Amino acid sequence: MRGRISPILPEPPHMVPARAEVYDHMMQQRTENRSEPASGASADSAPKIDQERLRNTFDALAAIGREDDGSIHRPAFTDNDMEARRWLVEEAKGRGLEAKIDGAGNVVIRSPQTPPDAPVVMLGSHTDSVPHGGAFDGAMGVMIALEILTAVHEAGLADKHPIEAVSFSDEEGRFGGMLGSRAVAGLLTPADIAQSTDLEGVRLKEAMKAQGLDAEQALRVARRRDSVRAYLEVHPEQGPVLDTEGAPIGVVTEIAGLFKWAVALKGRADHAGSAPMHLRADAFGGLAEFAGEIPRLLEEHGTDAAVATIGRASLRPGAANSVPAVAEFSLDVRDAESETLKELGAAMRRALSAIARRRGLMFEFDIIEEIEPRPCSEEMIEAIERAIKKRGIEPRRMPSGAAHDAQMIASIAPIGMIFTPSVGGRSHSAAEWTQWEDVELAADVAFDAAMELSADNTKKKAE
Ligand SMILES: [Zn+2]
Repeated sequence: MRGRISPILPEPPHMVPARAEVYDHMMQQRTENRSEPASGASADSAPKIDQERLRNTFDALAAIGREDDGSIHRPAFTDNDMEARRWLVEEAKGRGLEAKIDGAGNVVIRSPQTPPDAPVVMLGSHTDSVPHGGAFDGAMGVMIALEILTAVHEAGLADKHPIEAVSFSDEEGRFGGMLGSRAVAGLLTPADIAQSTDLEGVRLKEAMKAQGLDAEQALRVARRRDSVRAYLEVHPEQGPVLDTEGAPIGVVTEIAGLFKWAVALKGRADHAGSAPMHLRADAFGGLAEFAGEIPRLLEEHGTDAAVATIGRASLRPGAANSVPAVAEFSLDVRDAESETLKELGAAMRRALSAIARRRGLMFEFDIIEEIEPRPCSEEMIEAIERAIKKRGIEPRRMPSGAAHDAQMIASIAPIGMIFTPSVGGRSHSAAEWTQWEDVELAADVAFDAAMELSADNTKKKAE
C-alpha cells in the first residue's frame, strides 16, 4: 500500500480525529472489497486502471506552474497553462493515443482504435487554474480521464468502449470561464470572442494569438448532440460537506445556476461634518441595508441551496470625511432551480429599488453573467451509485454549488459528476487537498461508470 501523500505536494492539513476514524474504517472496508473479484464483472471489465501511473502523472502535471508556496499558477493561455496542455498531448501520444489541441485550446485525446463516428463517452475537466490555485481542481479529473482512456486502449477495447478524454480551456474564467466547454457545446458566439478581456484588459484574441492559437477557430469545435453519448467529470467538492461527514465520495445531482450583477447605488457626496444625517443621500447606507436583507431574501425566495455573495465593493469619493456618493458592488446569487433563481433575481431587484427610494438614491445594475442550473442525468447518477455500492460504500448525493464544464456540456449530452472530499473544504489555494485514497476511489468509480455507459453505447449502435 502506498503512502497517503504524494511526494511533491505540500503537507496536507490535519485530519479531524472523527473523520480519521471513519476514514480508517472505510479504507479497511475498501481494501477488503478490492481483494475480491468484482461481482457481476463481464469480460469487458478486464482492463484496470493503474493507480500508480495515475499518481505519477498527477504529480508530473502538478509540477507545471507550481509556485514556491505549493500553489499552482496556470491561468488560461499563459505560458504555464500552455506548457501543461502541450505536456498532456505528449504524455498521451507516449501512450499510443491520439491527442491534439483544438481551436478553442482544449486538449482532446482518443485511442486510434476508436471508430471516428462512434458517439463517445467524454471524460474531462480542465488543467487551467485560478491564479495561485490548488493542484486538484480540474487537474485531478483530467488525469483520471487520461488514465481510464489509457486502460481501455491498452486492453484493446477502445473500439467497443469509445472514450474521449478532454481538458477544457479557460474553465476558471480569465476570459469569462468555461470557454472550451462552451465552444464544444456550441454556446460560444463571435461576440464572446470579440469582447472577452481579462482583468488587465488583455483581449482573448491577443492572449490566444500569443500562444499560436486563432480565437476564431474556437467557433469550429462545436459538437453535434448525437456525437456525445454522455459526459462524466470527476472534481473536488471545493466545499466542506463530504469532509465534515467523513464521506469518501459524492454523487452530484445538479449543478447550481447563478446570476452575477454589477450594482451601483448613487446618492450625493457631502461633508462628513456639516451634512446632518437626515439630509444625506448616503450610497453606502443603501449597500449596508441591502446586505443586511440578503439572508431574509434567500430564506423567503430561495431553496435550501440558495446563496448570495457581495464579493467586491467600492465607494466614491472614498474619503473618510466624505459621505459616499456612489457604492458599486458585485452580487453573485446561486440556486439549484431555474424558477427560484428567477424569483430571487426579482426579489433582489425589488429590495434594491425600495431601499434606493427610501434613501433618495438611484439604483442601476448590469447583468454580468447568467448560467442556468443543470440537473445531472438520472441514468448517470445510478451508474455512479452502482459503482460506489459495489465497493461497500453508501453513496452520498449532493448538489454542486460551484459551476463546472459539465454545466455547458449538458446542452448536448447527459452529464454526471463525481465529487471527491476537499479537506477542510479548502479550494483555490495551496491548501487545496484531497486524500490520495479518495482520488483512487473516484478513479475506480469513474472507470466502472464509463465502462458501463460506453458499453451500452456500442450495444445501441449494433442494434
Ligand atoms: Zn474546477
